[in-house]
Amino acid sequence: MAVAAQSAGRDPASVALTAVSKQQPWEVIAPVLAAGQRVFGENRVQEAKARWGELRLAESALELRLIGPLQTNKAKEAAAFFDVVETLDREKLARALAEAAASLGRSPRLYVEVNTGEEPQKAGVLPLEADGFIAKARDVYGLTIEGLMCIPPQGEVAGPHFALLADIATRNGLSQLSMGMSADYETAVQFGATSVRIGSAIFGAR
Ligand SMILES: *Cc1c(COP(=O)(O)O)cnc(C)c1O
Repeated sequence: MAVAAQSAGRDPASVALTAVSKQQPWEVIAPVLAAGQRVFGENRVQEAKARWGELRLAESALELRLIGPLQTNKAKEAAAFFDVVETLDREKLARALAEAAASLGRSPRLYVEVNTGEEPQKAGVLPLEADGFIAKARDVYGLTIEGLMCIPPQGEVAGPHFALLADIATRNGLSQLSMGMSADYETAVQFGATSVRIGSAIFGAR
């Protein structure tokens, strides 16, 4: 990450690491935690609570980010547990998260997921609908959006997807970009990622 940042003329400190611990056994997570990593990504609410529930009470610096799809009926549970939800992608969920925030008196930080490849099976708002969705989340539901997230299609060159996400962010006044995984984080850093989500390159195959 540092090399990628430097070669893109960026300060390495401007790119944060989300270590994606989903489906990993604790024996591979513990050394990463011991080495000082504090930001972890999970893709399921229940699994994350089972893995991190007790530890997060003891470790106040821990930051847990939901990077998997969120069902509306789990929005409140997720809002109560996660520091960041990166997968806001539909109006029903915006409404549920707004209601959760009102009743909990706190909200996780939020990223809007954009389906940059317009893949039918994939979550995320379509690029052409992103501006409207972000405006609605802000103006109708009173949500504060921190940034955008995307997962480019497998087997496609990722750069154009990252560039598209960066464009959408800029025109909506958003500074944070969650993009890049084990296979393409260097490209993501080149295109302005402020956080990368790395699983297998840190913990090994799932
Ligand atoms: C699993 C996952 C990752 C990590 O993928 P790796 O290829 O193991 O680095 C990143 N982002 C999301 C949304 C994921 O679901």
